[in-house]
Amino acid sequence: MRLSGYFMPTMKETPAEAEIVSHRLMLRAGMIRQASAGIYSWLPLGFRVLKKIEQIVREEQDRAGAQEVLMPTIQSADLWKESGRYDAYGPEMLRIQDRHGRDMLYGPTNEELITEIFRSAVRSYRDLPRMLYHIQWKFRDEVRPRFGVMRGREFLMKDNYSFDLDYAGAKRSYNKMFVAYLRTFARMGLQAIPMEAETGPIGGDLSHEFIILADTGESEVFCHRDFVEFDVLGAGIDYQSDLEPVVEAWTKLYARTDDKHDPAAFENQVPEDKRVHRRGIEVGHIFYFGTKYSDPLKALVATPEGEAVAVHMGSYGIGVSRLVGAVIEASHDEAGIVWPEPVAPFRVGLINLKTADAACTKACEETYAKLRDAGVEVLYDDRDERPGAKFNDMDLIGLPWQLVIGPRGLAKGVVELKRRRDAEREELSLDSALARLTG
Ligand code: ATP
Ligand code: MG
Repeated sequence: MRLSGYFMPTMKETPAEAEIVSHRLMLRAGMIRQASAGIYSWLPLGFRVLKKIEQIVREEQDRAGAQEVLMPTIQSADLWKESGRYDAYGPEMLRIQDRHGRDMLYGPTNEELITEIFRSAVRSYRDLPRMLYHIQWKFRDEVRPRFGVMRGREFLMKDNYSFDLDYAGAKRSYNKMFVAYLRTFARMGLQAIPMEAETGPIGGDLSHEFIILADTGESEVFCHRDFVEFDVLGAGIDYQSDLEPVVEAWTKLYARTDDKHDPAAFENQVPEDKRVHRRGIEVGHIFYFGTKYSDPLKALVATPEGEAVAVHMGSYGIGVSRLVGAVIEASHDEAGIVWPEPVAPFRVGLINLKTADAACTKACEETYAKLRDAGVEVLYDDRDERPGAKFNDMDLIGLPWQLVIGPRGLAKGVVELKRRRDAEREELSLDSALARLTG
């Protein structure tokens, strides 16, 4: 992509309405624009990151054996009246009427709809287990939308629903999602800690929130310090095997959000120098809720003995759009965003220091072509701008690598390769730089 033709409206000034760093940086980098309170448009740079995060979420859901569907944003109120949640959900639900006066709503979540899809198709234990998910916009009319995409009213969520014959089966599905979540967040460069949590209006009794430690988080959390070092990507995971030992390893140490926190247990179980009491961002939440929806909605399956029983369900959410902000909260510096490679909008920023210099521009154009041919995602700053402005913009948008080409270096046969993460710079030949970036 050529920056000269790219729609990336960066800002020098810090927008007054933005209280936290991810919100400020997303606005300044031209990633999003507010459409109305808690509702955002995604501009090209932000949209690329959103899609990368979505894709990692999708790959890990698929790997765990879930199947992707797409349910609508607008739902009929009828099913919600059947489950009893139409009244229970309260003012967070956006309620609308169609031209015939029928009650409709913009889905804040999809338990009812997925249960209806399931009950209309599945009758027997032979068709279990199933895990169905979608990645779809949700609307919750939050009292206080704030912090940009972190607490929006309209936001993108991955929500998965599992269907099993009994508790034992449901726990296996829960374990799969538990491990899939660990892998999903780790692949984005995030250390998410699974914490015992309350279940809220969705209900149920087995529940973990996946939390990233960050001072700007809205949750108060208590956990054992060793979680910060835990690694899941190194371990080969076989989703067909019993995952209980993995889940046990990740749940045996104390980790709870404030609603579940027990100060005495915390002090007993965690040595003083290992106690972490901080704030955190909830990026995912998994629940087992048994027959809470299958009972009222009569989603029944026949057991091998021929008895009809309500199916055991769980639901598993990830805040896809919130994650864009959460990654920035976890990874930035004074100059701007520092994208972990797997979610970076482009891998390389190519900076032409002097577009008026024919030799320099020729070298840049060739480099741009070679990088693209090698499948490297590159944003080429070919604008007629001062080098200072180019460096600032490139640091602000936080691409992992900056390749800087200027007439002075070229005369000596070198270019500069800068790693955004630690600002480490290296002068090397253009060929070596290309080999490094395409290798
Ligand atoms: P919170 O406690 O932050 O209000 P929640 O517990 O109501 O969230 P869930 O129903 O568990 O949310 O939704 C699943 C995931 O969707 C959450 O873990 C979070 O990452 C994301 N999410 C929830 N509400 C919002 C929101 N208003 N804006 C952006 N993401 C959200
Ligand atoms: Mg939650």
